[in-house]
Amino acid sequence: MNILGTRIDNISLRDCLIRISEALAKGGEMRIVTANPELIYRAQNNRELLKILESADMVLPDGIGVVWAAKQLGQSLKERVTGIDLTIKILEEGDRREWRIFMLGAKPGIAEKAVIKQSEEYPGIIFGAHHGYFTKDEEPSVVDKIKCFKPDILLVGLGAPKQEIWNYRNEGIAKVRIGVGGTIDILAGQVQRASKFFQEHHLEWLYRLLKEPSRISRQRILPLYVMKVLQTKYFN
Ligand code: UDP
Repeated sequence: MNILGTRIDNISLRDCLIRISEALAKGGEMRIVTANPELIYRAQNNRELLKILESADMVLPDGIGVVWAAKQLGQSLKERVTGIDLTIKILEEGDRREWRIFMLGAKPGIAEKAVIKQSEEYPGIIFGAHHGYFTKDEEPSVVDKIKCFKPDILLVGLGAPKQEIWNYRNEGIAKVRIGVGGTIDILAGQVQRASKFFQEHHLEWLYRLLKEPSRISRQRILPLYVMKVLQTKYFN
């Protein structure tokens, strides 16, 4: 499936987890992108980013904006697969299978807090963590720390597209690498996930905007994305 030049994989959350489990069982490697409208819009004029998305093993439809665009363009996506939903499924499965999961991202102290909280919930998992505000000079020691930990799953929450670029450049560091945005903040209990009402009415973007009005500058891209999708639908 193609939205404004970005390939999106039409895969359900359940199937996505099956593919991750299979990759781990076979000893394969995998890089996963959760693509939201902002990332898709940016990739249109950014060859490097487009290459990173094109070469990913899975590009998941992160949010209702992607499902909507697919529908406008005459395609139908099974469901949206967000970073947080996928992470929760991974934690549930990882607890049963004793996976090693490393969280890289968020402000200092937050990933460690997420580890403490999630270890209580999922005692079968072996966790590792590092914050996402390391300098260029500190980066090699962060990479070493992750390599020594030998993660089955590396959850990278550095914000898009930084996390996608990071995962692209760090092949071999973990069996499965996933860009998860603000998921680590939610796992730490630092940020509340939108309530069921907002989730069920596909209004999580509005919830985040109400909680953090400063996001408006980023969300300005959304009307441009909508226009571009409609232009493609009616004039291409
Ligand atoms: N972040 C980080 N390092 C950076 C920039 C951002 O670790 O250099 C973290 C930030 O603290 C937050 C996450 O990346 O935890 C991005 O969250 P956001 O909600 O903006 O993600 P998105 O909207 O891309 O899912």
